Amino acid sequence: MPIQFFCPACRQPIEVDDEVANLSVTCPFCRKVITAPAASDPAVRAPLPSARPGAIESSAPIGFPPPPLPRPSMVGYLALGCALVFLCCIAGLLLYSLTLAREIPPNATREEVSKLLRAKMNNPTLQFVSFFGSCVVPVLGTVLAIAALVRKARPRWPAITALIVFGALGLILAGVALLQVATASATAM
Ligand SMILES: [Zn+2]
Repeated sequence: MPIQFFCPACRQPIEVDDEVANLSVTCPFCRKVITAPAASDPAVRAPLPSARPGAIESSAPIGFPPPPLPRPSMVGYLALGCALVFLCCIAGLLLYSLTLAREIPPNATREEVSKLLRAKMNNPTLQFVSFFGSCVVPVLGTVLAIAALVRKARPRWPAITALIVFGALGLILAGVALLQVATASATAM
């Protein structure tokens, strides 16, 4: 005689063979491994899908619609988009600093150089790009990528790629910043 009971994990009614009473079964709804009771719960009404003993990866029982496939999520692609914008901003800033370096006269004193740089950095567009590119976009992209992974969004590669980009560039930027701080403190001493 089948045993009918509610899954303790998801409260869905399920049915098992009485030979698996007190044994582990996999809930067909939530896929959790649960212990089948010795007797039916009278509150459950037939017909019900049956859980398979011990099987972790079981196909959905007959008569039970397959669990909804996680729909392809845009979140991962948004994170990837942020990574691309981030890369473009970094590349743009690098190019800009290269052109700046060319504008500096070769025999300029340290003060003249910093004056020139400060004047150039006063550019609101540049400030916006560097703020947006190096703060807003990476933070947003990282949050989106993590959200996509936590929600098990498919496909996973955009979110993973975005995380790798932010992780690698974050490390490089942190390294550069540390280097600058180290150089600055070495010069100050
Ligand atoms: Zn369940």
